Amino acid sequence: MQSELLNMSCKELRDGIAAGRIKSAAATEAVFGAIEKYEPVIGAYISTFEGRALAKANEVDAKIAAGEPVGELAGVPVAVKDVMCTTFGVTTCASRILENFHSPYNATVVEKLLAADAVIVGKTNMDEFAMGSSTENSGLKETVNPWDTTRVPGGSSGGSAAAVAGRMCFAALGSDTGGSIRQPASFCGVVGLKPTYGRVSRFGLVAYGSSLDQIGPVTRSVADCALMMNVIAGRDPADSTSVDEKNAPVCDYLEKLDEPVDKLKVAIVPQFSAGADEPVQKALTCALDVYKKLGAEIIEVDMPHLDYAIAAYYIVATAEASSNLARYDGVHYGHRTENAGDYVEVYSKSRAEGFGKEVKRRIMLGTYALSSGYYDAYYLKALKVRNLIRGDFAGAFEKCDCVMMPVSPTTAFKIGEKIDDPLTMYLSDIYTISANLAGVPAISIPCGFDDSELPIGLQILAPAFAEDRLLRIARMFESNTDWHRKKPTIVE
Ligand code: GLN
Repeated sequence: MQSELLNMSCKELRDGIAAGRIKSAAATEAVFGAIEKYEPVIGAYISTFEGRALAKANEVDAKIAAGEPVGELAGVPVAVKDVMCTTFGVTTCASRILENFHSPYNATVVEKLLAADAVIVGKTNMDEFAMGSSTENSGLKETVNPWDTTRVPGGSSGGSAAAVAGRMCFAALGSDTGGSIRQPASFCGVVGLKPTYGRVSRFGLVAYGSSLDQIGPVTRSVADCALMMNVIAGRDPADSTSVDEKNAPVCDYLEKLDEPVDKLKVAIVPQFSAGADEPVQKALTCALDVYKKLGAEIIEVDMPHLDYAIAAYYIVATAEASSNLARYDGVHYGHRTENAGDYVEVYSKSRAEGFGKEVKRRIMLGTYALSSGYYDAYYLKALKVRNLIRGDFAGAFEKCDCVMMPVSPTTAFKIGEKIDDPLTMYLSDIYTISANLAGVPAISIPCGFDDSELPIGLQILAPAFAEDRLLRIARMFESNTDWHRKKPTIVE
């Protein structure tokens, strides 16, 4: 029963709870049972809230028993990446500088989860301030990949992906600045969606690269992803970059999910995708065959500027990060040094003690790129490249419904393999970064395994605010394959 419960989708569980067949308290206890069992090995969570979660579950069960109305995720145990503010527990961003930070408010997405009657079980590990591709940059703990515990779960939302794959929650939220939802989803064999920039409120999301960051779901199926989007999408007056629903309506993402997209036209970028490892390329070819059998037409498009995405991203993202992270000064937030002689030393020592190596590297890179004399050569140039990449997408989407490509050039790599070589680590983001630069939505869905039984993801990118079609396209694949049903041997 325990494992049967834990393997349910959010939708099945929610419907079971709403019908009174399953108790949310039982599902929540099962999740904490899994946490007790797997968490010592996987290390997905920075904090968990057992008492709070059970109280919420009991509250939902009581409401249902009394016939009161409940929210769309009523009783479903979910996790939140520790980059989103919660008034309960701490919000650390996996950084020593925020290790004891208590937020005075909830992120809008957290409010929305609570309003939907979800049960928040804990906050997941990540690369410090979401900077990284393996979760190895966490200043607080290590997370491993549930499929192979000698490997990384991907990053920066590695804790969320590992918790979902490891049955330690039914769904989770992650954040994606350059691939941090999709790449760990691909490494852990789960579904991860980065919505269009502006579709989901960033209020209460600790900023990394504000013009790139988006919150999105990590789930075990496309349907669960649609359900999570129903809860979190929409305009938020507290986030001026969230988009007005009059211009881009939010729809019920579940409603038409099972309707295949008619006359689907898929574009591929063969030369660009050719950089991936052989098993990844093979899985992509097989996935395209599935779509062909379903009647899709596959066309080739040229997107000449994608090759420059990494270079442009690491200027834009670090520039924004250097500015966003200036607020951690030892005065306003978090860690304050105990050995300062004067206020300058309060700043410099608090930051020196609180930030990890990668965060410092990025602050230096970003500060340099923005400094006078270099601004035009680096930052402005990067913005121009960003525009050209946007243009590549606009051109491609005139000819097709979606673009497909790998999520990552490799499957999950070994812990420690890339940590001393930041450039190689940065290169692993080659396929995910352009969606953030262009602001378009992109999803990763399970599409195969390599010879070592490590999951491979298929990435599908769609025009801005076309999440409904994107999810339907992803669902077409999922309904005709069973990659998403495979689970790591570590879980029952
Ligand atoms: N790996 C990329 C980086 O290090 C993306 C991270 C993210 O999406 N948060 O910046």
